[in-house]
Amino acid sequence: DPNVHLSVHSVRHREDQRLLILRDVTDLHNLEQVRRDFVANVSHELRTPLTVLLGYLESLGDQFDDELGPAVSRMQEQARQMQALLNDLLELSRLQSDNLGGEQTSVDVCAILMQLKEQALEISQGNHDIDVDCQGGLYLTGSEADLESAFRNLINNAIHYTPEGGRITVRWKENADGQLAFNVSDTGIGIPRRDIPRLTERFYRVGSDRSRHTGGTGLGLSIVKHVLNAHDARLVIESVLGEGSTFTCLFPAKRRSLRQERKEQA
Ligand code: ADP
Repeated sequence: DPNVHLSVHSVRHREDQRLLILRDVTDLHNLEQVRRDFVANVSHELRTPLTVLLGYLESLGDQFDDELGPAVSRMQEQARQMQALLNDLLELSRLQSDNLGGEQTSVDVCAILMQLKEQALEISQGNHDIDVDCQGGLYLTGSEADLESAFRNLINNAIHYTPEGGRITVRWKENADGQLAFNVSDTGIGIPRRDIPRLTERFYRVGSDRSRHTGGTGLGLSIVKHVLNAHDARLVIESVLGEGSTFTCLFPAKRRSLRQERKEQA
């Protein structure tokens, strides 16, 4: 029955036996779905009035004197932050319902990285050394929109958590064991070892004060994790506090696709 959800545990029982415990978690599963739908609906409903508000705030522009001017730009900034949060919440709830964005195609990762490099240079405003190294002809089967969103989150984080003058290195290549690896290294502030396992939880932040000024939503790495799950991939995080971090996405060899195959089909 596709509507019944079971959790399966196996425990050791006596010397040579194992006990299989099946638990019916259908209610829990349904409740989780209700919670996800609720978050998605609320985000969706809030988006329209916020867009109107932001539109008016932006049209007010710089018509104000010294006293009101900073207040209006602060309101714009906060409304944009709220908009980013709603967009991330919607993206996450779609990913949690196992829906990839768009169809799965043969994705040219190098082409995505060239675009992301342009955006990264704008965000960094010349304050970082950004190096993108990419193995051409290495294509990935997946959702282009979702992969781009995951890679963008990792690159933007590297910029946000690396002080001026630091170096960001982005690589895309095939490992010796055939796995496909995307990785972003930075020479930034690093992450304490105890926080690493929890980074992909929603809204988890290392010391709330150090992330607030970045304009992030606290959902970026959670989105990355869900995109990777949907592509049979995993995220490896290595970091040394005060020295820098490396985030690696490992895709299994079966995710490699040959661009030519697609062209022949088309
Ligand atoms: P945020 O919007 O806060 O950046 P994320 O989910 O993208 O949310 O990241 C979660 C937390 O992980 C961040 O608040 C930050 O503390 C930490 N983090 C993420 N990337 C890096 C990085 N490259 N260097 C140091 N810390 C990082």
